[in-house]
Amino acid sequence: MSLQVLVIEDDRAIRSLMQASLSVEGFVVQTAVSLSEARAMLKHKLPDLIVLDLGLPDGDGVQLVRELRKQHATPVIVVSARHQEAQKIELLDAGADDYLTKPFSVDELLARMRVALRHRGTSLAAAVTTHELEDLRVDLAAHLVERDGEALHLTPTEFKLLARLVRSAGRVVTHRQLLVDVWGPEFTEHTHYLRLYMAQLRAKIERDPSEPRHLLTETGVGYRLADV
Ligand code: CA
Repeated sequence: MSLQVLVIEDDRAIRSLMQASLSVEGFVVQTAVSLSEARAMLKHKLPDLIVLDLGLPDGDGVQLVRELRKQHATPVIVVSARHQEAQKIELLDAGADDYLTKPFSVDELLARMRVALRHRGTSLAAAVTTHELEDLRVDLAAHLVERDGEALHLTPTEFKLLARLVRSAGRVVTHRQLLVDVWGPEFTEHTHYLRLYMAQLRAKIERDPSEPRHLLTETGVGYRLADV
């Protein structure tokens, strides 16, 4: 059965482009031009995934994500213009799955959609506990991190940080989410901890820590563990 996608976007050109390209990929695409139209459609039927533009004529996408998250786990991918950085982080913290900055390619959108859909599936079934990409292998259950088949020794905090990223592999995790999940809710302002431990982790995991291939920086937002 085809997956249903709701594209919430007020820009007609972008909306038509997304509708056409996603339909070609086999998705059943519905569109809404405003939050109020989206709300009405969501009451009627929940899609499998939502693509949400941040700049909408009738209000704040954050509110829609909060409303949705009270009851549903439907993946939400936020599409934003570059100047909407702060709002984008708020949306991710409110429960949006990922984001793309305009202009983006359809291939990028499809890749993010695949990751979001896969995570939604796995979060309902078993949690992700292993990760493998190129020279890196992580098995959370076995507490094992290997590079080129050789075991790496991580400190408990480094391991916790890596584990949090493995559970969201391929998706951006905000600074706030990492600080809360690894250190605790009272540490949300301590971004220097995060920078320090990320540097340590990169020194152990990356072949060239100055050009990371696994632990990717999402400038101003957070980090992403590369997954493809
Ligand atoms: Ca817009």
